Amino acid sequence: MDGLMLPRFMGCDAHLEKADIIIFGAGFDGTVSYRPGSRFGPQAMRSEFYGLETYSPALDRDLSETAICDSGDLELPFGNTEAALDMIRRTEAAIVRMGKKPFMIGGEHLVTLPAFEAVIERYPDVCLLHLDAHADLRDEYLGERLSHSSVVRRIWDIVGDGRIWQLGIRSGLKEEFMWAREGHTHLRPFDLSAADEAAGELAGRPVYLTIDLDVLDPSIMSGTGTPEPGGVSFRELQQALCSFRGLNIVAADVVELAPHLDASGVSVAAACKVMREVLLLMG
Ligand code: MN
Ligand code: MN
Repeated sequence: MDGLMLPRFMGCDAHLEKADIIIFGAGFDGTVSYRPGSRFGPQAMRSEFYGLETYSPALDRDLSETAICDSGDLELPFGNTEAALDMIRRTEAAIVRMGKKPFMIGGEHLVTLPAFEAVIERYPDVCLLHLDAHADLRDEYLGERLSHSSVVRRIWDIVGDGRIWQLGIRSGLKEEFMWAREGHTHLRPFDLSAADEAAGELAGRPVYLTIDLDVLDPSIMSGTGTPEPGGVSFRELQQALCSFRGLNIVAADVVELAPHLDASGVSVAAACKVMREVLLLMG
């Protein structure tokens, strides 16, 4: 019927079969150590997205130039981490098997693990490009190996040394930083000034891009579970994304938005703008 709107991301209404990029929400926050709420990320972004323009002046691209399908949000079994991760893995796998690019909205950062596992099935040489305030390299947290603070370590378990680039990292255990420095990951701390260099090293390789929104300074991203002062500005993040424009990004995600923790709504608006830029990079 005319005039009725389904709740979907503006400009992302291509038919599933025709789309190049398929969006889905994975609002899981079961292992969050501090402030939960990222389970509400996908819904909040879907309604806020209407406040954005489809055109990005920074990238000079428009969402209308790419066929994008918003397939909705997964209904995840909270309290059962393994089952939730399995559902995410199967969804991501179904999208890559169709030859399409998945774009996942978290949820906490652990959702990246099953998504990456699905992507590496199809792209065995895929590299991880990780923007975050936190190293996420703990081998376990409170005895739990499946935690959002261990997600990159679990991905390293799969890919090994030299396949993970980490930018903006300004928090973690001393052991995490030392472990990275031993050559296990390419960790460039504090800001995104190494984005160009990372892009050069990743050129020509399939890339999984994961953006933990707490890489942004809490002055613009207070709506997140573990805010970490000393982060980058929105403009710095946007410039870093611009330097990724030549990369072969085969899958991406944006995670750790906890919308209710920022009553001003600015965090959700920033998250939506990050999402738009990443969709345009993939298009
Ligand atoms: Mn993270
Ligand atoms: Mn983080």
